[in-house]
Amino acid sequence: MHKYIDAHCHLQNAPIPTTAIDTAHRAGVMEFICNSGAPDDWNAILKLHDAHPSVHACIGVHPWHASDVGPDWQMRMENILAAAPDIMVGEVGLDKHYPSVTTQVAVFNTQLDIACEFARVTHIHCVGAWDTLVHIFKTRTMRRMPPAIVLHAFSGPINIIEKLANEYNGYFSFSPMIMDVRHRRMRHALCHIPMDRILAESDSDNSSVIPDTVNTIAEIKSVASDKMADIIYHNTTVVMKQNGQITPNTNAGWGCGD
Ligand SMILES: [Zn+2]
Repeated sequence: MHKYIDAHCHLQNAPIPTTAIDTAHRAGVMEFICNSGAPDDWNAILKLHDAHPSVHACIGVHPWHASDVGPDWQMRMENILAAAPDIMVGEVGLDKHYPSVTTQVAVFNTQLDIACEFARVTHIHCVGAWDTLVHIFKTRTMRRMPPAIVLHAFSGPINIIEKLANEYNGYFSFSPMIMDVRHRRMRHALCHIPMDRILAESDSDNSSVIPDTVNTIAEIKSVASDKMADIIYHNTTVVMKQNGQITPNTNAGWGCGD
């Protein structure tokens, strides 16, 4: 049986997370990158991380919660990251379907600053705000970028893929939505992602969907399923290894004129 890593899940939402982890293990999903939504689920994620070596934790404020985040969240986030070098940042970002994009941008930039301060891999949610996202990255040239970024459930335009991959050390994660042929934009985007940048995720508390998701990715990329599983597993370990690392890519956006 192949080994898989769920690159973006929400195990904290499972009725019984331990059962969800056991079920996923039986499907070959051996590790989990567990993303938070808001400060009120950070403790649940940290508890899972402490109890299960297979759970990698991310803390952050999702754009849906940018407006209702309570006081002191920045200091709490910094304290948690300072105490635990393996914890990542996520999920953070922008969503045009939710109000207060100005607030979303401010909260996102604050979290990118924190991610840079602690050199943490950052998991990003972006829906319908790709121009704003790229603009933020470009205007951060003097404020740096995290060591790597993961664009989760990627369905962005194909003309930004190369820039995100090469200038900002971006990786692209695909959810089970890729199995639905109606998601043409997402499936088309996958065709343009370099093989060493592809990840697979459940975006839920059910990581058992990862093998089928990887099989669909393999089909779309015209690669054998076994080979695709190995490539995606390897890519995900490479992403996690960059957590805490100051890599040459950290400042790759500097001085770029376009
Ligand atoms: Zn998510």
